[in-house]
Amino acid sequence: MGRVIAIANQKGGVGKTTTAVNLAASMAATRRKVLLIDLDPQGNATMGSGVDKYEVENTVYELLVDEKPASEVVVTDTNGKYHLVAANGDVTAAEIKLMEVFAREVRLRNALKAVRDQYDFIFIDCPPSLNMLTVNAMAAADSLLVPMQCEYYALEGLTALMDTVRQLAEVVNPELAIEGILRTMYDPRNRLANDVSEQLKQHFGDKVYRTVIPRNVRLAEAPSFGAPAMYYDKSSTGAKAYLALAGELIRRAEKKQTQAVNA
Ligand code: ADP
Ligand code: MG
Repeated sequence: MGRVIAIANQKGGVGKTTTAVNLAASMAATRRKVLLIDLDPQGNATMGSGVDKYEVENTVYELLVDEKPASEVVVTDTNGKYHLVAANGDVTAAEIKLMEVFAREVRLRNALKAVRDQYDFIFIDCPPSLNMLTVNAMAAADSLLVPMQCEYYALEGLTALMDTVRQLAEVVNPELAIEGILRTMYDPRNRLANDVSEQLKQHFGDKVYRTVIPRNVRLAEAPSFGAPAMYYDKSSTGAKAYLALAGELIRRAEKKQTQAVNA
């Protein structure tokens, strides 16, 4: 059954969407079957996958509010060789509509039940706030992948996020795990970044991925070409870093499986 990983951080601009799109493409390149769910009304992951958010017929709105089957809302023709559930401005209304419906926290979880078997990985690109959409992501996910920038207040923000996640998980998803913490837009020449990085490793140990995503202009440019960086410049440091991250996720998952079997 596919592993559902929510890419979340309440802070905007930390690299959630860049990670969602490039990790999905990297996993697909290793022949994993991947579904990417865009849960942000900004629709950046949709556009970054080469799907026009203004033209798309169905979005995550239809999935969550109208309860259309996932098989009907999935876009199979992306520039990343993965499947996509799109988002656009309409999804803002979903957030409000969801407040009125039955079992509003578990709409996404229920919707994914029917398609989980068809994928190895399902990634969810979360909006930068803690609303009903993010709650749906947390309820549906097996684990959280948290991208963060190694800046001065980063650790404080991360601790706050972890507290919220813990409280939320108690109510909607007691099994929710931390998949890993990803250092993004990393500049090794920056002393503060190195200090924060060290503190991060002290606090969170091997939850911090060994793979580091460097600041790389190709990653920032790729969305304007409507394709993940590896299809636009596969030799770029950004594309290579996300491929390495995919490898690390796969190795970690395999290790966990062995542990579970032996336990
Ligand atoms: P979020 O989804 O958390 O708001 P984004 O992934 O949209 O963050 O990233 C915010 C901005 O930073 C975007 O303009 C994106 O292109 C850029 N960006 C993200 N990661 C990198 C990186 N590793 N190197 C350079 N630019 C990046
Ligand atoms: Mg985003």
